[in-house]
Amino acid sequence: MQGGRDVCLAHLVTLGTVGAMDLAELQDVIERTYGERDRERGVAPTVAWLAEEFGELAQAVRKGTQADLEHEFSDVLAWLATLANQVGVDLTAVVDRYRDGCPKCDSIPCSC
Ligand SMILES: [Zn+2]
Repeated sequence: MQGGRDVCLAHLVTLGTVGAMDLAELQDVIERTYGERDRERGVAPTVAWLAEEFGELAQAVRKGTQADLEHEFSDVLAWLATLANQVGVDLTAVVDRYRDGCPKCDSIPCSC
């Protein structure tokens, strides 16, 4: 696809640009790194890129090395953060739904 990213998140980590991050820090660094370009591109292409990255993750799970897996997880998370930024979702806030385990039965492990 056109308009992709030349530098993946894993590469930024390798470069020492970012250290261990929480979700808010991930969204912030993604916003500062790609936000302007992502907004120009629009939401629909971001969804397409995220879907493509999920496909690459699926392939890495099936026949990739551990390094391939880690690379694809980082790309999926980065594109997920991009999409969250574009649609105004705070990942830290929404993941809180799982703080007490299963959101349906509030149990760890799930007892549904
Ligand atoms: Zn449950």
